[in-house]
Amino acid sequence: MAILIVEDEQGIVSFVRRGLESAGYTVVEAADGIDGLAVAMLPDVELVILDLGLPGIPGEEVLRRLRAQRPTVPVIVLTAKDSVSDRVSNLEAGADDYLMKPFSFSELLARVRARLRTSGQARSDTIAAGNLVLDLGARTVSVEEQTLSLSAREFALLEVLARNPKRVLSREQLLDMVWGYDFDGSSNVVEVYVGQLRRKIGTNRIETVRGVGYKLQPL
Ligand code: CA
Repeated sequence: MAILIVEDEQGIVSFVRRGLESAGYTVVEAADGIDGLAVAMLPDVELVILDLGLPGIPGEEVLRRLRAQRPTVPVIVLTAKDSVSDRVSNLEAGADDYLMKPFSFSELLARVRARLRTSGQARSDTIAAGNLVLDLGARTVSVEEQTLSLSAREFALLEVLARNPKRVLSREQLLDMVWGYDFDGSSNVVEVYVGQLRRKIGTNRIETVRGVGYKLQPL
């Protein structure tokens, strides 16, 4: 099973692909409406992320034609437009959800999960990293039976680290995956959130690899 992204902006495609693959999904891509529609018809495609501004066939038309053939495949529309009438016309055309550009990867992932859950294709709902257990449905973390409450961003950051237990993730990768592809790269938000997480889950959990980035220690 795969998630299809139909988008002509390569930067957004690779941002979404990296994030979804590190969350355990298989990703296929199409760069225009014609290819997008053809691939979206394949039964292996379990969810479609569809940009509206596409060469070939516009996204709105892809959605209408797709709905005529596959009425139930979940479709999340990416749009730069922000007017009420656009929302209404897309809902009528059969989109299940929207994401306004620019968006962060954690927002997208939450919507993907919600859609796959309602379409009955839920995956494993927990990730374990040593004695840390992340509950992806409840968005809580427990350490030795004790449940900790994290903010949405803290959870997203910990999830990315927990999904890549042996990798050192750079500040830029974390910014990309947790805050969004156009977030101000000069800010120290990653350092701030790592600090907050350390206070909650224990100071020795997240290792700083000097000059490279961060890594989760599975204790
Ligand atoms: Ca586009």
